[in-house]
Amino acid sequence: MSEPIIYELGAAGRRGAALPALDVPTAALPDEESLRNELPLPEVSEVDVMRHYVRLSQLNYGVDIGMYPLGSCTMKYNPKMNEDAARLAGFSHVHPYQPAETVQGSLALMYGLQEALKAISGFCGVSLQPAAGAHGEFTGILMIRAYHLARGDAHRDIVLIPDSAHGTNPATTSMAGLTMVELKSDGRGNVDLDDLKAHLSNRTAGMMLTNPNTLGLFDEHVLEISELVHQAGGLMYGDGANLNAIMGIAKPAELGFDVMHYNLHKTFSTPHGGGGPGSGPVGASEALVDFVPGPVAVRADAEGPYSLVMPSQSIGRVKAFYGHFGVIVRAYAYICMLGAEGLRQASEIAVLNANYLQSILKEVLPLPYDRTCMHEFVLRGQIEGAPDVHALDISKRLIDYGVHPPTNYFPLIVPEALMIEPTETESKRSLDHFAQAMVGIVQEARTAPELLHEAPHHAPIRRLDEVRAARQLVLRWQPNAQD
Ligand SMILES: *Cc1c(COP(=O)(O)O)cnc(C)c1O
Repeated sequence: MSEPIIYELGAAGRRGAALPALDVPTAALPDEESLRNELPLPEVSEVDVMRHYVRLSQLNYGVDIGMYPLGSCTMKYNPKMNEDAARLAGFSHVHPYQPAETVQGSLALMYGLQEALKAISGFCGVSLQPAAGAHGEFTGILMIRAYHLARGDAHRDIVLIPDSAHGTNPATTSMAGLTMVELKSDGRGNVDLDDLKAHLSNRTAGMMLTNPNTLGLFDEHVLEISELVHQAGGLMYGDGANLNAIMGIAKPAELGFDVMHYNLHKTFSTPHGGGGPGSGPVGASEALVDFVPGPVAVRADAEGPYSLVMPSQSIGRVKAFYGHFGVIVRAYAYICMLGAEGLRQASEIAVLNANYLQSILKEVLPLPYDRTCMHEFVLRGQIEGAPDVHALDISKRLIDYGVHPPTNYFPLIVPEALMIEPTETESKRSLDHFAQAMVGIVQEARTAPELLHEAPHHAPIRRLDEVRAARQLVLRWQPNAQD
């Protein structure tokens, strides 16, 4: 960063506000002992402050500037209407300790969202408590464990997880005190059925399945998989991060899932680039509906008031109060705005956009699983004639073309993975811009590979030592810390 930052812009006596002349007698400060002498705040004008923050905002990339094809993360455009809704005083100024009769509007919204999520997924109950997707997974696995314990099945301690799964799945399993067993994928990117059968036993607590999976493929045997797991006495956990591909088309409950988390911040549009807040409600089938965390919003009859209750066998609270309410409001606003038809259309266009890009890009980069994809697809960042170029080099070079890179090196079963998810909010023009950038970069890799190795060339910060950046976080300015 070559521009000076705000501390260096400061000059003694510079002010952003002008106070009128003192018209009362001067008084001595109460206790000199308790005052700090050293408080090196910058002294700057209003213009300095404004320019500093606007300049910082321009160093950042976001979905409001351009395409953000980060696979698995569903970086769709977030309508600003949702922001207005979440900021309405009736929602943003209520207190969680207020009596239910004074917050009927907020409870009605929670109830409405629970009902909408039930309709979208086919589940019989929903709890809005979990704070994000990974937290929803943890909640769901605790529910599965509680279900087995309630039946006296304490020996069921194994959770089966395909090798294409997101890292949060195995992490969830071990945090819940269970043991994970990895399942292989077959040549078409589905769960390998023979491997599944070989690992089912009376120790099976359940299976975690992402469908469509992280290769962007709909598992062709999902019904058979859930049947096998159920026959063995286990339950099916659905990682719902990819719900954006199937809204209004397939209901997870009808695919055999017993519990699933929704990533409201992904599928139902809340800004989530900076790490939160998210929201990861869980939906449950008949077997698990009494175990969901509470409280949940209920209504005695169609005319009656709303109230909050704890389900009969609830695993309890997993979050203070009622979940991330601001995200819940945004998701509800988004669902109401689109309606059932609109949600289905969003999924259809997300899938169409991904297949359009896949059809162009598979001509220039290897496509390990050559099938019609869902809302995302995974290429290999390996270029014939450019053996030293890696997926990371391609991604870094994309930054020079003004595009956010796709997800790199995930899923783990594809070497040099580039996972691309355009979402439904990109136009054909922006898809074409991305495709042209990728095709151009593949050509550069053969003729001038150093362009890729040294990229990015035009970003405010050149290539980082990513390990050092992650391990030694520098989160605040310090005098003389610039090197
Ligand atoms: C994003 C994601 C998660 C985790 O969700 P968070 O909301 O980020 O905690 C889990 N599984 C998959 C497949 C995901 O893409």
